[in-house]
Amino acid sequence: MPDDRDPLDGVRPGGARSFWLRETLAAELPEPAADVATRPLTGAARADVAILGGGYTGLWTALRLTELAPGARIVILEADICGGGPSGRNGGFVTGWWDELPGLIARFGDSEAVRIARAVDEAVETIGTWSAANGVDAAYRHQGFLQVSAAPAQDGVWTEAVEACERLGVADRWHALTSDEVGARVRSPVFREGAFMPGAATVQPGALARGLRRVALERGVVIHERTRARGYSGARATSSGPVTITTSSAEGDGTLVADQVVIALNAWAAAWPSFGRRLVTWSSYVVLTEPIPDRLAEIGWTGGEGIADARFTLHYARTTTDGRIAIGGGGGRAGFGGRIGRPFTHDVGSARRAAEGLRRWFPSLTDVRIDDAWGGPIDITDDHRPWFGTLPGGRIHFGIGYSGNGVAPSVLGGRILAALAAGRRDDEAAGLPLVGATPRAFPPEPFRYLGARMFREAIVRREIAEEAGRRPSRLAHAISRIPRQLGYHLGPD
Ligand SMILES: Cc1cc2nc3c(=O)[nH]c(=O)nc-3n(C[C@H](O)[C@H](O)[C@H](O)COP(=O)(O)OP(=O)(O)OC[C@H]3O[C@@H](n4cnc5c(N)ncnc54)[C@H](O)[C@@H]3O)c2cc1C
Repeated sequence: MPDDRDPLDGVRPGGARSFWLRETLAAELPEPAADVATRPLTGAARADVAILGGGYTGLWTALRLTELAPGARIVILEADICGGGPSGRNGGFVTGWWDELPGLIARFGDSEAVRIARAVDEAVETIGTWSAANGVDAAYRHQGFLQVSAAPAQDGVWTEAVEACERLGVADRWHALTSDEVGARVRSPVFREGAFMPGAATVQPGALARGLRRVALERGVVIHERTRARGYSGARATSSGPVTITTSSAEGDGTLVADQVVIALNAWAAAWPSFGRRLVTWSSYVVLTEPIPDRLAEIGWTGGEGIADARFTLHYARTTTDGRIAIGGGGGRAGFGGRIGRPFTHDVGSARRAAEGLRRWFPSLTDVRIDDAWGGPIDITDDHRPWFGTLPGGRIHFGIGYSGNGVAPSVLGGRILAALAAGRRDDEAAGLPLVGATPRAFPPEPFRYLGARMFREAIVRREIAEEAGRRPSRLAHAISRIPRQLGYHLGPD
């Protein structure tokens, strides 16, 4: 009998911060000194380096700068609180890029592709070693990442990447699994074969974000939370001298004059003139179950690996140290003109699709209670790779476009951006070919929004039909392939 109970159990996204961040904030000690250090900016201030955005990218950049430029005055402006954005709301997958190898090879060639993927592996490891060294309990578990086929249409999606890894002598980084090998890690009636990446981990995302904030404050970084950067002037290629950033907060307006600026605004960058055309914003939602350690044992999922299916609008799920499942869905909605509003946080339909994914994967867990649901924006580039670079004039550097996979890459992003802001172009990270590889522009609004929306609806319809063993409609199939036909590396073939 079909179960028509609300898969969200009445839980609605958007009413509160994510479970991860609530859990972390509740455990934080009152920090009177830090409260003063993180009060909103009012009046005039000066910085050597100003960082816009206090998520992982901004915080890793600040920390790296304390090493590259000791004594520099580093100031972070954060519109909310550090970790209030996707850095405190994501699924906590810390994955490498070996599954992306064919795309990297096509763009950068064999050896640079391997160099980039190795740098992301190093970023995965850094999160573990840095957390341990700095007393940050971010529940880092280095247990690998499993991609599964959850429908015949998804079979072998990983083959090209697995073969590329074999050809380049890195077969241990990403290799295929038979259905029995998948079943030895987790049992699901819809899982088929798969592929495994041993060099991947999971974290409690909010704990990582707030841990980075604490250590940044300890190292003398100034953080103004609840302070929105409204724009900047003086950054033209032809002008010399510092950049002036105007800010606003509930306590008043301010200005920050800085020699170097780092933009670490994630999807919010889509509303800023230099970046809007290179990004499509999209929502993603996560739902979290009650603790069910015994039920995890029943389905054999006790190894702590993260799992994702091979849909374009993928489902991804991981377990937590107290035996919950967090499952996310990439089938959210497109945003208009870079505006990040309620559809990114309050969309019940997208959260419900994530919960339905859990039921489909594990029908035996249908009775398990959902404790929380939340969403956030992701910033998608034409080829799903982040974009790092410097604007003309040489004083504004940026790292955006993680396309929903930013936990590990933002560590690398921090290294790159700190090197650019410190003028250390000799730094190995700044020399990666990712730097300055400008993504293809998307059409202007309203075509970008309308195209993304039409594409999303077609692709969701196509993938749901494929999972149900039905032929997708010709129209949905044709529309879902349009981005690739136009040269964007988005969507299924
Ligand atoms: C639901 C969801 C699940 C995800 N799951 C995963 C996952 O499992 N694994 C993975 O690798 N990635 C995942 N991601 C993506 C990942 O969270 C991001 O790529 C990553 O957090 C980006 O970090 P960031 O610092 O660049 O951006 P953010 O964390 O978004 O930080 C940007 C900050 O800028 C602030 N801001 C915005 N405008 C202004 C302004 N004008 N002035 C000052 N501050 C401003 C925002 O408040 C925000 O805090 C997920 C994303 C979402 C939404």
